[in-house]
Amino acid sequence: METHDAAAERFDAIVVGAGFAGMYALHRLRGRGLKVRVFEAGDDVGGTWYWNRYPGARCDVESVEYQYGFSEEIVKGWSWTERYATQPEIMRYADYVAGQLDLRNDMQFNTRVTAAVYDEAAKRWTIETDQGDRVSAQFCIMATGCLSAAREPEIAGRGSFKGQTYHTGAWPHGGVDFSGQRVAVIGTGSSGVQSIPLIAEQAERLFVFQRTPNFSLPALNGPLDPAFARAAKESFMEDRKRVRTTDSCSMMPASEISALDVTEEERQRNFEHRWGKGGFAFVTSYKDVMNKLEANALASEFVRSKIRQVVKDPKIADLLAPTNHPIGTKRLCLDSHYYETYNRPHVTLVDISNAPIERITAEGLIVGGQEYKVDSIVFATGFDAMTGALLRIDIRGKSGLKLGDKWAAGPRTYLGLGVAGFPNLFMVTGPGSPSVLVNVIIAIEQHVDWIVDCIDHLSAKGLSVIEAQVEAEDRWVEHVNEKADGTLYPLANSWYVGANVPGKARVFMPYVGGFATYDRICARVVANGYEGFSLA
Ligand code: NAP
Repeated sequence: METHDAAAERFDAIVVGAGFAGMYALHRLRGRGLKVRVFEAGDDVGGTWYWNRYPGARCDVESVEYQYGFSEEIVKGWSWTERYATQPEIMRYADYVAGQLDLRNDMQFNTRVTAAVYDEAAKRWTIETDQGDRVSAQFCIMATGCLSAAREPEIAGRGSFKGQTYHTGAWPHGGVDFSGQRVAVIGTGSSGVQSIPLIAEQAERLFVFQRTPNFSLPALNGPLDPAFARAAKESFMEDRKRVRTTDSCSMMPASEISALDVTEEERQRNFEHRWGKGGFAFVTSYKDVMNKLEANALASEFVRSKIRQVVKDPKIADLLAPTNHPIGTKRLCLDSHYYETYNRPHVTLVDISNAPIERITAEGLIVGGQEYKVDSIVFATGFDAMTGALLRIDIRGKSGLKLGDKWAAGPRTYLGLGVAGFPNLFMVTGPGSPSVLVNVIIAIEQHVDWIVDCIDHLSAKGLSVIEAQVEAEDRWVEHVNEKADGTLYPLANSWYVGANVPGKARVFMPYVGGFATYDRICARVVANGYEGFSLA
């Protein structure tokens, strides 16, 4: 396909997205002397954190771990204030890094990339934007994020609603005041679980429409003890090095004991201990929670019992206690006073597991023939995860092959980095890589470093093109599936398998084999001369 436009401005690399992946990619590529431009749809850096400004939005990876590790200077110059950083604090951090590295100079904001087309003759990508840009680049780096394509379900009558509607993933920058309002929240994933307690603080009446209850663990958030924060900063570089050698990529070591090898008393003590620490450490209480149903059932029941202790109305507690999936197989939530919210008299849980929302009317929503009149509707309905942001761009590789067509039966990648038929196109934390299953900033740094080393290698060898081989891609997809099948993850209807998007192929998208294992595989591929890739 001849698409190349000789008049288009030429770059060595185009980076799509100015979230943490795009920011680091720009920094590294520019450091190698490449001419780079970043296109970003928002009007500043921050990626998913730029858009997700809903009340209560905060990261559920501990703040002292949720930061770049590539520069000691950047680490030393920043201090977090809470155990789990709020969205505004993360935006301040992104701003701090962008300022330190002077990144904005090479970023073009308010610009959405609409197409990326490969020209086989010129061996270059032509990239187009909604602002009319048409540029040419040797490399195209998709730093588009895994949870950035917000999704509103199609519900009949959606256009007839007279009140305001919001999506948690595209929240108004000025915030929203729900005081005195009747509010509906649809969705009880992480965004719902975080926002519901805060919306309940303001709203006069709150209806939560729940299709599937999720397991949520207490965050036990609070201000960071300054002495702890200082010590964490002191040891950060060493800690990060160590964490990168683990599969879980977490500071909290996973247990090596089976939940089935201990007495009931011991197990309860351990569960209580982990529960009392707050955060995700609970699911690694035992080594087999995520791969053995019997072990998982014990952990699941422990959490259900906690929900029943908090929620006063036993019927509501039953509705909130998940029984249709093993704990952890849908992305776990961390909360601050989520379950307590249902004890408040003005908060109503509406179970829509058997009777979906029939219709949105001018004044509210109809479920089971009953109309719930509201002033605002909040869609906490999630994302077209992992592939959505990529496929919203018209990406065409060799012979005009559309990425959307290639991925019709689910994403196919080699290492989550490259795709056969799409030379010199790289994804950062793409499907088939650990991405959303680990601390994503660590995954981002590993991917960007790999990509930059690869570009260096091509240049040192006088080569200009790298492309994943079909056979290597096939083997990798098979390996990713095998790994997932060895766990309980595929049992749940989660966004990990695309179940939240009607018609999306059911494939477990991230690589569950562990970060360190994956990192070693990537290094081995390089050591074997970019095994599985064709270089030309
Ligand atoms: P989500 O986990 O996909 O949850 C979406 C919710 O909307 C689910 O309860 C879903 O029900 C419901 N829903 C979707 N379509 C519906 C429909 N047609 N009718 C009724 N209910 C519907 O999305 P999310 O809460 O935005 O979170 C997505 C991911 O982003 C998280 O899992 C996490 O990885 C990340 N995130 C992280 C943080 C953090 O770091 N703190 C915060 C927010 C989000 P079903 O379960 O039945 O599909």
